[in-house]
Amino acid sequence: MDNILFWLGFYLVMLVLSTVIGYSKGNVVAGALLGYVLGPIGVLLLLFSKDRRMLPCPECASKIHRHSYFCPQCQQKVFKRLK
Ligand SMILES: [Zn+2]
Repeated sequence: MDNILFWLGFYLVMLVLSTVIGYSKGNVVAGALLGYVLGPIGVLLLLFSKDRRMLPCPECASKIHRHSYFCPQCQQKVFKRLK
């Protein structure tokens, strides 16, 4: 009985963890699904997955939000060049 509770708790933690990571990468649904289906493997996959909200600036290569118009690092207009 204790064993079942342990695994339930374990998967709950994984689910929360993957949802949080998914949220921080702008991909909550995929995050929650990965954590729920794959558990710790899903969490690892998420950690190494591409951040969908941030893109490298074409001028200075620093990570900027994909909706930003100006790069906060080099003040270049980047809107047109980002997808
Ligand atoms: Zn820049």
